Amino acid sequence: VIDAGRLERLAAIRGLRESIRDGAVSFVAAHQAEIDAYRVEISTGVAEALYALRRDAEDLTGGDALTRALLDQAGEYVDWMQWTFWDLPYYAAVLRPDRVRFRRLVAACGLVYVSFRIIDDLIDRHYLYRGRRPTLLATFTRSDGRGQASEGLTVLAACLLCFDGLSRLLAMSDGGTGDATLRQVVAAARRTLVGMILEQADERDWTPAYYERLIRLKNVDYWRILHAALDPDRSSRLYPFLVEYYTLAQRLNDVQDHSADEPRGQPNLLTILRAPRAETAGPAGRAASPATLAAVEDTIARDLLRMGDMLATLPDDERGVAALKLAESIDEAVRLGLFQPRDRQEPASAAEAPREPLRLLWNSTAEEFLERLGPDALEDVACPVCQSLEHRLLFRKQGFGFRRCGVCSHAFVGPRLRPDVQARIAGELDGLFDDPFLDVQRIQAEYLCRIFRRFARGPRLLDVGFGRGYLMHVAQAYGFQAYGVDSSPALLDRLRPVFGRRLAHADAGGGALPWGAFDVVAVSHVLEHLADPRETLARVRELLNADGLLYLAVPDMDSVQFRIFGKRWNAVSPVVHVQYFNERSLRRTLEQSGFEVISRLEHPPEPASVATRATRLFRQLGGSESGELAMLCRPTSHEAPADPTSDGAGV
Ligand SMILES: [Zn+2]
Repeated sequence: VIDAGRLERLAAIRGLRESIRDGAVSFVAAHQAEIDAYRVEISTGVAEALYALRRDAEDLTGGDALTRALLDQAGEYVDWMQWTFWDLPYYAAVLRPDRVRFRRLVAACGLVYVSFRIIDDLIDRHYLYRGRRPTLLATFTRSDGRGQASEGLTVLAACLLCFDGLSRLLAMSDGGTGDATLRQVVAAARRTLVGMILEQADERDWTPAYYERLIRLKNVDYWRILHAALDPDRSSRLYPFLVEYYTLAQRLNDVQDHSADEPRGQPNLLTILRAPRAETAGPAGRAASPATLAAVEDTIARDLLRMGDMLATLPDDERGVAALKLAESIDEAVRLGLFQPRDRQEPASAAEAPREPLRLLWNSTAEEFLERLGPDALEDVACPVCQSLEHRLLFRKQGFGFRRCGVCSHAFVGPRLRPDVQARIAGELDGLFDDPFLDVQRIQAEYLCRIFRRFARGPRLLDVGFGRGYLMHVAQAYGFQAYGVDSSPALLDRLRPVFGRRLAHADAGGGALPWGAFDVVAVSHVLEHLADPRETLARVRELLNADGLLYLAVPDMDSVQFRIFGKRWNAVSPVVHVQYFNERSLRRTLEQSGFEVISRLEHPPEPASVATRATRLFRQLGGSESGELAMLCRPTSHEAPADPTSDGAGV
């Protein structure tokens, strides 16, 4: 059955997305420096406010240990929640508030805002934020162990943060905009509280009109607390558009969270739009029916098209940032499975003629490759790092020679499989074997995200070779907009339901990498597979913002693991890995590709629950569990290298 109305809607949304694309891209390009500058003001302002609050409490209590611990944990939570303010720099780039004043106002409004989030977590019994990060309630519960006392402490911490924010605003009252901000924050906070009460309403009272009131009060007024720092009398042309944007953002959240909200009895758009009501009876009612999804899609399409109309009437700069937010909303809706043609089949590539399978494996020998494919299967190479032809044979494995360069000390396979043969093997074996190494990355993801959050200047993150997607999941929980590419269709299929259009099939070894303007790119355990790592790094550099962050990890030839096991180390695998870096050759590769190293990262010890006896041994011998070489880098600038610790972004 072809639904003509739906097809029309799909076409309209596609047309809208197309029409705003250039505006969104050029807005960010034109305003990147201001956006970054305002973002630095946010982290500085929050750090200053938290420091002052802690110092004041020390004075008041004479250095009481419990108060100190409570404020440390509350401070850490506020610092983490900072990412929820990361929309503001985009609006600030248009509204251009004075930077010092912005810094102080955002910190004050931010404290009030986070205090309400903490109360909300307590009411909803949220122990994990976005499924990952413990909420303040959870932190108190865990560290305190006093049961009900931890809830009391949560309330007290929230009230303290709220009053601290308000008194900061009061101190800035000057009969002008300071007063207006204070008035708006109090009014919005009051409405948010009413919204929190309304959210507790009996399910029988849930109607579409109830839902509209609820999200305006609770979700839009949440944002209004923050927005008061920027636009105290709500006179900007952007304001009415943003009201619509934050309303829609909640609807999209509801689509995402439906399966969690419904069992907990929380009002959700899908529950409310489900028709007829009788459908809710029985456990079968839990999954959204096609009719419900159609109603949701219809509501969201109307929102998007209305925002498109509003956008068209805005002045240039306002239109740019509106295009950016609208494009993000459409992408998010698509990621959630809305506006997709039904029964879409990926068209088979015509260029991909069926070929006789090679039936060779990762541990096949050089001789087997030569036998199956002839002498062209292998290629001879100069040192992939410095191009020198001076190298000596280290050892052989599976009949492949491992060489060390006499000039730069890099080790590599030579002769090696031609890259297209290597890719063909990867294609044939894709999805057939589970790679246990991919699971190791889970242990490090949280640690890495904390580092990214400290050094990144913005939320856009790309994982090149995302594997199981652990880093993407955790990064998303840390407030990053996580994108990923991988060459494995099997891994893409696995993550597609979660990340949708933020995933793309791409081969780091050749061809274009999609998107751009990233704040963080992670290239973890990819480079060792590639014939020409420098070329890939040069393409990665193009995707990064000028002050972006590159995280790079490869197996380390200077590791304890290699020193103990030598060629029996499982990272030594000539069909899969053709490059074998040490710190010196990796630094050289990075410098040649336009990066400067900020630091080598040492991973923290693995928790006892996952570390095996062998991995503990590696650490006792002065190495690390993973035997890897990990670097944090930035693109080389022509100006003096920036010190990442000096801009207030953390450390
Ligand atoms: Zn070399």
